[in-house]
Formats: sequence, C-alpha cells, structure tokens
Amino acid sequence: MDYMVRATAAGGQIQAFACMTRDTVEVARTRHNTSPVVTAALGRTLTAAAMMGWKMKGDKDQLTIRIEGNGPIERINVDANNRGEVWGFALNPHIELPPNKRGHLDVAGAIGLGVMSIIQDFGFGEPYIGTTHLITSEIAEDLTYYYTASEQIPSAVALGVLVDTDCSVKAAGGFMFHMMPGATDETAARLADKVMAFPPLTSYRAEGHTPEELLQDILGDLDPQIMDSQEICFHCNCNREKVTRALLSIGEDDLRDLADDGEDVELRCDCCNEPYTFTSEELRDLADEAARIRALRASLGEEE
Ligand SMILES: [Zn+2]
Repeated sequence: MDYMVRATAAGGQIQAFACMTRDTVEVARTRHNTSPVVTAALGRTLTAAAMMGWKMKGDKDQLTIRIEGNGPIERINVDANNRGEVWGFALNPHIELPPNKRGHLDVAGAIGLGVMSIIQDFGFGEPYIGTTHLITSEIAEDLTYYYTASEQIPSAVALGVLVDTDCSVKAAGGFMFHMMPGATDETAARLADKVMAFPPLTSYRAEGHTPEELLQDILGDLDPQIMDSQEICFHCNCNREKVTRALLSIGEDDLRDLADDGEDVELRCDCCNEPYTFTSEELRDLADEAARIRALRASLGEEE
C-alpha cells in the first residue's frame, strides 16, 4: 500500500514530505500501457503531485502538474487532491528512447525543453497558475526551481521510479523539503549537505525503505517529527455521466451519424484510460436528448 508522511524538522524550520508510490505508478503504467521511459516520467510526476496535492486545504481543491515540452512525450498532465488520490496521463505513452549518458531512462530527452505549470484550483474563481521553464526536464530539479523561484520557498525535491526488466514498476517514491519562514542559513546548509550526500532515490527505494525511514535516514540529527500520514492511490474521478455529457456536446447530427453506423462507440477517459461503451440505441437516445436540449435553448432565446 502506498502512503506518504508529513513531518517537521529542525524545530519547525523544515517542512518535510516523503512517500512511496510503487503501486500507484504501476496502476498508471498498466492503464496507459506506458513504455519504461514514460513510466518513469509519468511516475515521477504522479509522485510529486501526491505530495503537493496533500498540501491543499479544501476537499474540493485540485492540484495539476502540466509539463509541456518539445520532446516526444509532448505533454504530461497529472491531477491530485488532498486525499492522496492522483490521476493523469502522458500524451504519447509508448515512446522509446535509448538510455542517457549515465545509462538511465532518458526522462529529460523524452520531455525536452519546455515549461511546467502548477495549477491550483480551489473550486471557485480563477485557478492559480504558476509557470516556470524546465531547467533539466528531470522533473524533481524543475520542481525545486519552481518552489525556489516562483514561490520563494527554498526547497529540495527528489523523485524516483525504478522500472524492472519486465517493464513493471519495481520501486517508486520521493521526498520534498521546504525551508519555512525564519529558517536559518545554517539549517539550510545542513539540509543541503544531507540531501547531497544521500544515495540516488531509486537505489534507496529498491531496498524497500518506508517513508518514515527515508526521513530519518536523510534528516537524522535534524530531529524529524512525523505529524501525520495519508494513503496514496491512482484514482480518476471520471464516470459515465461525465463522459455522456461530453458526448452530448458533439450535437444531434454527429450523434445520429454515429448511431446510424450501427456499431458500439467506445470512448476512453484521457486521464485513466477507462473505456466507456455506447451502443447505437444509446447514441440514438443521446441524439434525441441533444435535440431536446437544443429546442429548449431555442425557446429560451439562448445563442447556440
Ligand atoms: Zn478517468
């Protein structure tokens, strides 16, 4: 079971998050049938989103990480809420790339140069959008830069996804440290040293450490105090009703054309790839419904 923990350290000068996300990333991989490099890129983004979503206060709040680059993935879009639920996709899930110079999955090459947007939707008004240029396109460094430059919160972010030889996810997890207002330069320097000295997260995770152990192993004598924990899972909030509404919006004529083809139509949710099938009878009913909506709008004098 995946989960994350939240902690403070150095007497409240550091806010810390750590998580394990192996099962969540594996669900994303099987749903979207991602290639190893996309599994790593999407998995890192899901891992970060889980921790960032948890920081949101309201139950209806939603956090989105959108990465758009000139690499072959083109776009990654991941959403999260404050209950540990994350969902999302990569636009081109099957791409393959040779390993990078260090022999690792080439996430930076798959994403390319571009921008990362962090969108916080509070369920009312305009969402808050922060956008930064990608620095390394390895995602963790880009988030570190985002926090430091856009939010003025000096931070350290590490994300790791280890893909097994059979392409399944062997391990995944991450951590996120933020310097709180009033933190001393000495604490920041000690934290930076500890983060630098820490082994690569994928090899550490593969040894099966818990988030609590991870915080203890990195922060050690900075006295980490665990505050609470939260389960993490891949869970999309799509349902048949939402998909039906989207289908209705294509209008009566197109719905009739689809119905007249006489074949089932299968729509898939972008975010989780869940299939929704509509029979030609259902499509005909939807066309009638679209006609009724149009007539109603016309009688109310609304523009189409
Ligand atoms: Zn979905």
